[in-house]
Amino acid sequence: MTARIIDGRAIAAELSQSIANAAKRATTEHGIEPGLAVVLVGDNPASEIYVRSKTAKTAATNMRSSFYKLPATAPQAELLELVERLNHDPTVHGILVQLPLPPQIDSRKVIEAIAPAKDVDGFHPLTAGLLSTGLPGIVPCTPLACIMLAKKVHGSLAGMEAVVIGRSNIVGKPLAQLLLMENATVTIAHSKTRDLPSVCRRGDIVFAAVGQPEMVRRDWIKPGATVIDVGINRVRDESAKSGYRTVGDVDFDAVRPKAEAISPVPGGVGPMTIAMLLKNTVRAARYQSRALAFPGR
Ligand code: NAP
Repeated sequence: MTARIIDGRAIAAELSQSIANAAKRATTEHGIEPGLAVVLVGDNPASEIYVRSKTAKTAATNMRSSFYKLPATAPQAELLELVERLNHDPTVHGILVQLPLPPQIDSRKVIEAIAPAKDVDGFHPLTAGLLSTGLPGIVPCTPLACIMLAKKVHGSLAGMEAVVIGRSNIVGKPLAQLLLMENATVTIAHSKTRDLPSVCRRGDIVFAAVGQPEMVRRDWIKPGATVIDVGINRVRDESAKSGYRTVGDVDFDAVRPKAEAISPVPGGVGPMTIAMLLKNTVRAARYQSRALAFPGR
């Protein structure tokens, strides 16, 4: 058996067309051109690449894109002030502050400062609360990307045994909640899980969101399982021009012959995450144009 590759780039490209159409409709029918503001603090090379890709894709899908860069030494107050300005800017419907932030800045404070209706990353505690109580709202981009990729393979996830490795607020926990909403039976594993390989072998579908290069091994995977790799890890590679290459949390070459379907890194969850960010921006614009009621209002 050799697993089929879940081509996140191709699926995201297909979706981009419908997102671009939705953005155009927001402009023509509701008079609101969806706008995404991306904020970067410092010079982290990986963050620079993500931010460039996000702003380019925003503009390519009929949306207004704005970019703000602060120096790595910027005090927290300066970032909070910028977020507050963007909260009140009527041309900005979605705000994304690229993580990680430099050590002098408390990420939680920044996330909580973003107006919930503009929280297109889906990290605000109010957004998390809506999701965990099953109310409509913005859904965090990466977990939503994972669900869309899994459903592309299986259609319905109902009744499947899903194993999520990782319990972060931005990936593991919301992903587990979305899987429950899809009627999967969900196990969440983490660094204190005993005998992780055998827990993983329960999974008809395994999501790896750990941040450990190629940690998930061939013998952790049940034959015929689907594997979705969220991890993005830079590892030394002398043969690469940059001296680095990007790998996921799954040992792709070893696991592929055993799985039914597997998402690659790069080219799997990453491009789909950006597509979901754009989808969320259109939704946020509809909240602000009152075309869609913001939950609780
Ligand atoms: P995180 O906040 O560092 O969380 C990592 C999780 O993995 C934690 O719950 C941790 O457990 C668990 N973990 C760490 N080492 C483990 C081990 N040896 N065995 C079992 N569990 C272990 O990371 P994150 O923000 O969720 O991101 C996870 C990965 O996804 C990273 O590689 C990140 O770059 C990537 N990512 C990709 C995208 C994308 O667009 N593709 C978006 C976001 C993140 P404890 O809770 O017990 O510490």
